[in-house]
Amino acid sequence: MLRTHREAYERLLPLVEKPGRYLGNERGAVRKPLDRVAVRFALAFPEVYEIAQSHLGLQILYDVLNRRPDVAAERVYAPWPDLEALLRARGVPLASLESGLALRDFHVVGMSLQYELTYTNLLAMLELGGIPLRAADRGPSDPIVVAGGPCAFNPEPLAPFLDGVLLGDGEEAVGDICDVVRAWDGRDRTALLRALAGIPGFYVPAFFAPRYRDDSTLAEVVPLDLARPRVAKRVLPDLDRFAPPADPIVPNLGVVHDRASVEVMRGCVKGCRFCQAGYVYRPLRERNPEQVVERTAELMARTGYEEVSLLSLSTGDYSGVNPVLKELMDRLAPERVAVSLPSTRVDALSPRILEQIRRVRKTGFTLAPEAGTQRLRDVIQKEYREDELLEAARLFADLGWRTLKLYFMIGLPSETEEDVVGIAELAARCAAAAGGRLAVTASVSTFSPKPHTPFQWAAQLSLDETRARQSLLRRELGRRRIAFRWHDAELSWLEGLFARGDRRLADVLETAYRLGCRFDGWSDRCRPDLWREALARHGVDPAFYLRRRPLDETLPWEHLDAGLSKRFLMQDLARAVEGVLTPDCSIERCTYCGACDFDAVRNVDYHPAGAKGGAHRGDGGVSRWAEQIVPSEPGDPLPAWETRMWRQIRTRVATRRAARTKAPAVSTTPLPATLASGADAGGDAGEGNAEEWLGATPASLAPVPETPPKPVQRVRLRYRKIGPARFIGMRELGTTFFRAARRAGIALAFSQGHHPLPRLSFGPALPLGFSSEDEWVDVELAAPLEPADLAARLARELPEGLEPVVAFDVARSAPSIDATIAGYVYTVDAGTLDAPPAPGTIAAAVARFVGAATFPLLTRTKSGERTLDARALVEALDADASGRVTCAVPAGRGASVRPHVLVGTLLGLPPDVWPLLRVHKVATRFVDAGGESAVAVPA
Ligand code: SF4
Repeated sequence: MLRTHREAYERLLPLVEKPGRYLGNERGAVRKPLDRVAVRFALAFPEVYEIAQSHLGLQILYDVLNRRPDVAAERVYAPWPDLEALLRARGVPLASLESGLALRDFHVVGMSLQYELTYTNLLAMLELGGIPLRAADRGPSDPIVVAGGPCAFNPEPLAPFLDGVLLGDGEEAVGDICDVVRAWDGRDRTALLRALAGIPGFYVPAFFAPRYRDDSTLAEVVPLDLARPRVAKRVLPDLDRFAPPADPIVPNLGVVHDRASVEVMRGCVKGCRFCQAGYVYRPLRERNPEQVVERTAELMARTGYEEVSLLSLSTGDYSGVNPVLKELMDRLAPERVAVSLPSTRVDALSPRILEQIRRVRKTGFTLAPEAGTQRLRDVIQKEYREDELLEAARLFADLGWRTLKLYFMIGLPSETEEDVVGIAELAARCAAAAGGRLAVTASVSTFSPKPHTPFQWAAQLSLDETRARQSLLRRELGRRRIAFRWHDAELSWLEGLFARGDRRLADVLETAYRLGCRFDGWSDRCRPDLWREALARHGVDPAFYLRRRPLDETLPWEHLDAGLSKRFLMQDLARAVEGVLTPDCSIERCTYCGACDFDAVRNVDYHPAGAKGGAHRGDGGVSRWAEQIVPSEPGDPLPAWETRMWRQIRTRVATRRAARTKAPAVSTTPLPATLASGADAGGDAGEGNAEEWLGATPASLAPVPETPPKPVQRVRLRYRKIGPARFIGMRELGTTFFRAARRAGIALAFSQGHHPLPRLSFGPALPLGFSSEDEWVDVELAAPLEPADLAARLARELPEGLEPVVAFDVARSAPSIDATIAGYVYTVDAGTLDAPPAPGTIAAAVARFVGAATFPLLTRTKSGERTLDARALVEALDADASGRVTCAVPAGRGASVRPHVLVGTLLGLPPDVWPLLRVHKVATRFVDAGGESAVAVPA
């Protein structure tokens, strides 16, 4: 029988800053009987919940694995230092969110490697999970530790800690891993690794041995199994074979990307020479637009999210972006769901895309010019021109945005002082182009060369060089009154060290971990002093790893095949030196990078014939769906794909114009080439082409304001907040109810104004960690609904621990919940303490309090300490035979007594254990009959 650790966690969570990170009770979380499945697979992410839970790749694998009846996949994320300290102090292992199973009790631990500065967290997770750090020390009963993700394309600094590495796409490969693990007899671990090494894309570091020269450079990586001298990445040739997760996890805690996500495309062939993901995830594979729309619509209904993100490395380049946006807007806008495109290059910003992006409630826009001069942008293959950027800045200001963030890098190959100063000049020209209406910020990081890119041989700036260029920028940007944000030089330095590191860095990593390094990607947590100490202990000079590598030097990752020929990377580097752009193979011609076999593996797109390359899936009108959405019209000179978009914009502009007496101001700024398609295609100037759209005033393009429906009914709902839900904070509670109502098809009313909010009015906040029988919320509805039906529908959709009890109508003019509450009755249970006081001790303490005339109580709040007379503020205090204390307090606008503080003080407990007292609200007392007549309230 497997032992889970949920109870142990329950006892620790009141002591941590954000218990919601560790609950595992989200909507969409899958719990299977773990002792009845063949393979237990831990999906591990070495970051804190808010970042880990935002990662779409993990959600995809969670869905793929849990679809198999013989596999249970559960999540394990890095504990924040407060929980780590508690786990170590109490000897509790790091465990999965869903079942509380220790990491060591899984068969496979799959670690996602997205960023080099999570490596110490990975070690912490293994050790806290009860798994020997080094793969060589693991036995038959230990899990197989496998890593994947972009950093896995050079896993060498982690090699001694990993049993295996999965290169490339995981959807098919994780199933193969499960099959091999399932078939294993549980005895010979080497035999298991040998079988796993037979899976395409699976790399076993122990089967390769690096050999170094006297000058410390790598001579070769010797394959110990001569049958497998190299490992080639796994490619999923057809994205459509795996539909997006239909029922993803909906967090109860605010996460970094708190929205639904659908991957529309994988890979990118734009060829930005610094971008590792753009190279290692080639070729480009688009998802069928029809599937995107249908699955997204289903996803929104299932999750209740109010925003969906169409994800890829550059969604503006997705063939179906315009029709998909149009169809999704048509379907989702009435539900007040926004669609966002998080990664869009400025040269891929069509007016249609901008119009859609504007619908999302955003105050700022972000673009990534990456370099300050055109020369350097040509070197790094950023195709767009400066005039496009300036026009975009003007347009953003016209459309109502108020801030513009520009991302740049310093330290790009061939950079000169002129390029650095060019960053400040370009940012200033953007601000000027926007007529001073945009607050422009230049956000600057240090370039870190990545394996498997044309710049993999380039040098990275030293710390001193980085700081010198940052100073120059600070001065130049300051002179131009442009805000400056910079990436911590030391973080980039560490990132560069590990990005192109070799196995010798593993000892440095372990030492840094032992010294206390964690969450190194957080500038307020990174400890460069400890890293320096670790490097010094092992005699490692970081400059060795940051230096320029000769083209004939063996690189630590050369035995790993990311699908890119070395010859191509060298040719592309030569083109960079010349400042020559490499053609986009999805539109122009193949440049033989090596990613395609032109049989199963090739670029896949859904663009209609003529718009993209010659042998792709969209040829010959294959995309029936696209034709349905954007039909060609006889004689229409514009490409079918865009006809309707332009027609809509034209109609809207013409209608608005006719209604105005004064002609709109028309821009005289030259048109960016990529937006001048209308004129090129034969359209009349000013008639449904890009010039028309760009020249229009913001007012003419503003969406028709949608007036939120007025409330027609107000329902008062009583609910319980128990179990894991006691750790859902007040802010998250509103989002949780809102999304549950959306999933339940309940038509909520919204507030008026610029940012309409759902009309949910909760009673006074329950402190985090308190459970309750008797919480209240007013729900205002836009369409009538029986209160009992509302409660039943919510009950089906709310996460574990939020339980509607009763609902009834109240007049719209009735006083708020807050205004009608007289007080609360709590119980306080000391039985949850490690050493609970005897019931007699508790009874005596309570009797002393009741008998006292006054009782000074020191309370601490964010604004400081104060002393209250608790005797005057407590209406009743009693203890039963088991030692449970019942406490009645009035609802106060002013000073109030927290029951656990009172009982903790009465019992003489140290303040750090007060949160462990279990507080439960048994009743809310109301002042008027409206509440009391509907709900039985204990006397
Ligand atoms: S092999 Fe050719 S078509 Fe395929 S991704 Fe590379 S350059 Fe593009």
